[in-house]
Amino acid sequence: MDLIQQAGDLGFIAVGFSRPGMPLFFDRFRAWISEGKQAGMAWMARNLDIREAPSRLLRDCRTIITLAYPYSHRKPCTPEGLSAARYSEPLRVDYHDRLREKARMLAKTLQEHFPGTQTRICVDSAPIMERSFAVQSGIGFIGKNTQFIIPGHGSYLFLAEILTTASLPFAESTLMESRCGSCTRCLDACPAGALEAPYRLNAAKCLSYRTIEQKERVDRETGRQMGGCFFGCDVCQEVCPLNKRDDPAEVILPPINDILTMDEETFQETYGKTAFARAGLGRIQGNILAMKPAAWPTSPQS
Ligand code: SF4
Ligand code: SF4
Repeated sequence: MDLIQQAGDLGFIAVGFSRPGMPLFFDRFRAWISEGKQAGMAWMARNLDIREAPSRLLRDCRTIITLAYPYSHRKPCTPEGLSAARYSEPLRVDYHDRLREKARMLAKTLQEHFPGTQTRICVDSAPIMERSFAVQSGIGFIGKNTQFIIPGHGSYLFLAEILTTASLPFAESTLMESRCGSCTRCLDACPAGALEAPYRLNAAKCLSYRTIEQKERVDRETGRQMGGCFFGCDVCQEVCPLNKRDDPAEVILPPINDILTMDEETFQETYGKTAFARAGLGRIQGNILAMKPAAWPTSPQS
């Protein structure tokens, strides 16, 4: 069985293995929750006992396989230059569905080679500290912007996990040292001050949270901070030297007025299976309107 080869053929850029003990940084996570830094994402505060012990997600779990899958380095834009976060990939099916399908193929291979074993696939769908296990697997490190970074690739990637009761043999990895060094570009550039300290995000301030997850409509002050990005935020990744590549923005979104006048049926037909559906049409339109009257860019941003 060459699981790593198969994962590579499926488009994954890294595969790592770890054991399901208490995850790295769990105490820090618990403290973060107790300070309420998860804002309105109440689900993050639930199931701490499962987060602490992934074997509660899959009984007799013996191996956690971490999978990293890249997303486009190009920022999707409207012709006028309003943008959405890169991970939204608005011409593609929501990454949760794509990754789950690919992970299923790997899980099937595992089960063929280890008959009688069980697997569980996690794609942002279960209370698991995925960045901790990704670090433990030795494939990358967490940057000061709290993103998982793979040297040579950067942080434009999704993580997924396969938990298995098969005890896959692998050498324990040496933890990768952070390569941030004295850099503080992400903290300095965050338009919302959400990175309150290295490795410390206040979700209540983060534009990714405020433009997608938050129940309340975004206000004008938030609109000013958004800098033309109406879905999510990539600033702390854009400025990261470990992501530096001169990829031009791509105009794959409709003109602003088409979005503002779009009806629900058209939105569902066009974006119903994409990451945009998580925010929904009303929120996307509200986010765009919140940016007014701040100057909308007149040409695609790079
Ligand atoms: S995603 Fe945007 S708002 Fe959130 S921490 Fe990064 S730069 Fe700040
Ligand atoms: S911008 Fe600098 S400090 Fe922030 S994650 Fe990248 S390398 Fe680390």
